[in-house]
Amino acid sequence: METKTPYFKYCIVPLYKNTTVKVPDKIFIILPEDKIRRSKWLKACRRNEKDISQSSRSLHVCEDHFNVSIIKYYMSIY
Ligand SMILES: [Zn+2]
Repeated sequence: METKTPYFKYCIVPLYKNTTVKVPDKIFIILPEDKIRRSKWLKACRRNEKDISQSSRSLHVCEDHFNVSIIKYYMSIY
């Protein structure tokens, strides 16, 4: 199940354009593939679902948009 191409994570929030290359120390959270859960995340990030390519499997949001304690909470239940 490994991907062939090397890939890096990038933040879906356009203003920030954070990537793991630019800011390797940041926490990048992968959004759930499940549509309902994903849409909740997008709302939490104030992103319109329609702005996001639904074909993308790996969507990430960097920690800038979340309170760290929320991140830890979500990571623990994910
Ligand atoms: Zn970000």
